Amino acid sequence: MSALKPQLAFDTSGHGVSSGSTLSGVTALVIDDEELMRDFLCMAVEKAGVGNVISATCGADALDQVEENPRAIDIIICDLQMPEMDGIEVIRHLANDGFRGGIVLVSGEDKRVLKTAEHMAEVRGLNVIGSMSKPVPVHKITALMHKYAVSEQTTSRAVPEVTADELDSAIRSGEIITHYQPQVDIKTGRVKCVETLARWPHPERGMISPEIFIDLAERYELIDALTDTIIAQAARQGAIWHRQGVDLNVAINISMNNLHHLDFPDRLNEIVEQSDMDIRKLVLEITESQLVKDLGTCLDILTRLRLKGPILSIDDFGTGYASMENLKQMPFEELKIDRAFVNGACKDDTARAILESSVFLAKQLDMTTVAEGVETESDWKLVTDLGCDVMQGYYVAPPMDIDTFNAWLSKL
Ligand code: C2E
Ligand code: CA
Ligand code: CA
Repeated sequence: MSALKPQLAFDTSGHGVSSGSTLSGVTALVIDDEELMRDFLCMAVEKAGVGNVISATCGADALDQVEENPRAIDIIICDLQMPEMDGIEVIRHLANDGFRGGIVLVSGEDKRVLKTAEHMAEVRGLNVIGSMSKPVPVHKITALMHKYAVSEQTTSRAVPEVTADELDSAIRSGEIITHYQPQVDIKTGRVKCVETLARWPHPERGMISPEIFIDLAERYELIDALTDTIIAQAARQGAIWHRQGVDLNVAINISMNNLHHLDFPDRLNEIVEQSDMDIRKLVLEITESQLVKDLGTCLDILTRLRLKGPILSIDDFGTGYASMENLKQMPFEELKIDRAFVNGACKDDTARAILESSVFLAKQLDMTTVAEGVETESDWKLVTDLGCDVMQGYYVAPPMDIDTFNAWLSKL
């Protein structure tokens, strides 16, 4: 995740900021069992400009306060090491309750524990602002509070309110379009595949990111309809490239929620057949973002999908629940390592270790590895040295609309 760079001017007293007004309406909840630490954190948060600071001496007390009025608390600063309920348990409860505010983690344990806790909270869908090791310097707290303020300003500008009804009609009227991002074979440098990414160019609200509408589609059972239009567009495009003699695999993203209906392989086959695309050129990137509830149905669908011909790829590897056990059982041919373990991995020992072991695991299982999020020359060097097969990321090219993509391809 790329860090936001807050460009707020600090006032001359060294605490509080000139943009304090954005924080003045914010309520922060500090959770720490140690009185001294709690008081210190409250004071520092207040000095950073936060208008309303409340505290809790334990996780249970904090959760009660959140439950009482979930929308009243904007940011939670939580200690990890607490008797009774620890910080990890607090995070789990907050995630289950759908807490939407910001989270800052604090711990006296070593930095790796903090990093893991941060990652766990993100995987659970929480909005993690950052973490701090004890002893906590005041400037670190100030910086994180400002980071929160900036991210709130950016998200409230960038996240337009869209409703499920609007999305439903956008899907029906063909407003959802597809952009394309190349995947390059590392050894040959050839563009081997192109990933189809959904986009919603909204007439009033600008380009809406899939991060927003995929989630909405999943919650309101629109995901099947959305997936159908994406498959149809990708397959039509795949057939065009084939007719033009351009040899490209075409990848699409499949939600695990698509794999609850036994007829999915037949529906996919039908849509692809309508376009004349060779289904063996289709790659299905499947994210295991939730535990497989019904393994029987899932294996039935995956195996039938394989029989119909597309290549099955496990997406976002490392972030979800995909385990070694599942990998051995399921008929995946490709492992796509999430960008969290690729971008900047040469400077991050944990990310690098996960990247390295994912590549090793894939090789053991005879799977192709795709590294996504290759942004820099050092990312590229690292994935090359580690023996990844394919790379994707801004270092090669960003996702592009179809005309820009074709123009880019023709210049190679
Ligand atoms: P993903 O499958 O992990 O797709 C890659 C995302 O990383 C894309 O974001 C892409 O724009 C972005 N990306 C590519 N290269 C780089 C890089 O070098 N650095 C960084 N930081 N990011 C890079 P996008 O298009 O916003 O899509 C977000 C997610 O939405 C996708 O993540 C995928 O999970 C989901 N998604 C997109 N289209 C569809 C779709 O048609 N169906 C479903 N079910 N999900 C989709
Ligand atoms: Ca993907
Ligand atoms: Ca990913």
